[in-house]
Amino acid sequence: MFEKYCPMCGVEVKKGTEIKRFGKYFCSQDHAQQYVTRRDEEEQRMSEERRRQPRGGSC
Ligand SMILES: [Zn+2]
Repeated sequence: MFEKYCPMCGVEVKKGTEIKRFGKYFCSQDHAQQYVTRRDEEEQRMSEERRRQPRGGSC
């Protein structure tokens, strides 16, 4: 059974036209690209936050 929804717009992804990225299915190349870009930005933000916080966590 093929039931996938685009995480960007929630549209049902039809078999045969799906774009797969990171185990997720997208309705279009555009939304796949947007997802990859957003994912990269989030990863960057998280690594920056980690850098900003001092290690050990003493108060
Ligand atoms: Zn979409």
